[in-house]
Amino acid sequence: MTFETVLAQARAEGRTLLNEVEAKDVLRDAGVPVTATTLATSREAAQAQAEAAGYPVVLKVVSPDIAHKSDAGGVKLNLNSRDEVAAAYDAILANCSAAVPGAKIAGVAVQHMAPQGTEVIVGMTTDPQFGPVMMFGLGGIMVEVLKDVSFRLVPLEDRDAAQMIDEIKGRPILSGVRGQPASDVGALKSAILKVAKFVEAHPEVRELDLNPVFAYPDGAIAVDARIVVSEA
Ligand code: ADP
Ligand code: MG
Repeated sequence: MTFETVLAQARAEGRTLLNEVEAKDVLRDAGVPVTATTLATSREAAQAQAEAAGYPVVLKVVSPDIAHKSDAGGVKLNLNSRDEVAAAYDAILANCSAAVPGAKIAGVAVQHMAPQGTEVIVGMTTDPQFGPVMMFGLGGIMVEVLKDVSFRLVPLEDRDAAQMIDEIKGRPILSGVRGQPASDVGALKSAILKVAKFVEAHPEVRELDLNPVFAYPDGAIAVDARIVVSEA
């Protein structure tokens, strides 16, 4: 789906948050590597989509009222059969209704479970004065506790993306330490540049988060995506 289609749909529903399925659709269109993700609105649909995605799969809640899906019990990883998918589907709906009473639930996102990589974050926020700003950092506690992130104003040159990666304190982690494999820094640079081009082309995008992106020795892929657009 194109960005324009997804934007029109969200605005028709009075939403400014694009859900994971929508965000990944438009980012894939923009050349950003993301896990193929579909929306299931029944247990049976989730099972069929899991077969198509290939086991193991991940199921996640899709709700405009739930920003942090794991916190609400809305993420089930490493599902390996139709029965596990059915049980996870039911558990997600039950957990999320309990965690956020009255939450609107659009369905459950189904995707292949990507192999674990080094977790990084690629994001964008809008500064009231300077406009769109790209952000890069390592995932998990590195970004949350240590605030080890770098920023650049959009538009970005090739060199800016390379510098964003090189500037973080945790940079040696991407070169591989203590037996951990090195990450494909070229793939990360390319993802940053593609996201920057995407936000440059679509001024309606106010915020964007790929959290996490898994970086591998060869390639990188975003397993979670979230986009906030401006009001109509
Ligand atoms: P949220 O950030 O809303 O809690 P995520 O989609 O980021 O939800 O999922 C939580 C965690 O589950 C991620 O940080 C990642 O470690 C793991 N995860 C999510 N999707 C996948 C996937 N497709 N493949 C492998 N791991 C995943
Ligand atoms: Mg996430």
